[in-house]
Amino acid sequence: MSTSSTILKASLLAFSIASVQAAITFNVSFTADAMNDFTPAEQQLFTDGIAFWDNIIDGHQDNGNRTYTLTVDTFSTPASGGSVTLGSAGPSSVFFSGVVAGANTSDERFILAGGGSARFNTHPDAGSLRASTIRHEIGHALGIGTLWEDNEVYNDGNSGTGNRSLVGGIPGEYLGANALAAYQAEFDASATFIPVELSGGSGTAHGHWDESDDSGRSLTGITNASGQDLRDELMTGFASPNEADSFLSETSRQSLIDIGFTLHSIPEPSSSLLLGLGFTALLSGRRRKK
Ligand SMILES: [Zn+2]
Repeated sequence: MSTSSTILKASLLAFSIASVQAAITFNVSFTADAMNDFTPAEQQLFTDGIAFWDNIIDGHQDNGNRTYTLTVDTFSTPASGGSVTLGSAGPSSVFFSGVVAGANTSDERFILAGGGSARFNTHPDAGSLRASTIRHEIGHALGIGTLWEDNEVYNDGNSGTGNRSLVGGIPGEYLGANALAAYQAEFDASATFIPVELSGGSGTAHGHWDESDDSGRSLTGITNASGQDLRDELMTGFASPNEADSFLSETSRQSLIDIGFTLHSIPEPSSSLLLGLGFTALLSGRRRKK
C-alpha cells in the first residue's frame, strides 16, 4: 500500500513539475555566409525576431522540454516577373510529439519542428532587411504553412508534399479549429474555413493565408475590428507595402495551437505597436515573402 501510494505521489509530482517547467528554449545561429552578409545590427533583428515568437509561444502541448534553434542563411536573387523573393524558411527537422489527448490529428500526436532554417535575400532588389520579413520566415520555420498538412489541418491536394494530410480537406481551405474560430471572430463570422493562398507559385501557394484571387489580384475589403487589412497580416504571402501596417492576427496566433504549441496566457500588445517604424518599403512592386 505504502509503495503504490509513494509511486502515485512521485508521478503526480513529476507531472506537476513538467507542466510548470516544460517550455521551448529558442536560439539563433548564423551560417558563415550570414555572419559575413549581416551587420551586428542586422543580426540583432533575428534575435528580436525569435524573441517575438518566444513571447507568444509557451511550449508544446505534450509538455516536452526542448530547444529550438533557428539557423539563418543568405542568398542573392534579383527581382523577376514583377516580384522579388525576400526569403524562405521551414523546419530543419520534424518529429512526432507525445500523445496529446484531444489533439486534432488522427493519432493524437502532432508533428513538430525540431529546429528551423531560414534564408534571406541579400540582393539589392530585395531592399533593406525588414523585421516583418524576419518574423514571417520564422513563422514558417516554426510550422505555419509548412506543417499544416503534417498536422492534418490542411490538404494541398498533392500527395507527397507532407508526411500526412487532412483527409477530406481540399486545397485553399484551412480547417484547424483554433485558427478558424479566431478567423470567424476577426474577419468573417460566416467562414467555414480559412482561405489559403493558391496564387504565387511554389513556396507561396498552400503556405499562407489568402490575399489574392485566382488571377493573382489582391483581395480587398477584409479587415478586422481595428481596421487592419488582412493583406497586411504577417502570414500572408506578400509583404505589406508599409512595414508599419504589418500585424500578427489572432488567427495566426491561434493557428500555433492547431499545430501543437501552447501559448502564453497573456497576449502580446497589438503587434502593430511592436513593429519598428524605421523600416521602409523600397519597392513599388509586390514583394513576395515565400
Ligand atoms: Zn511565406
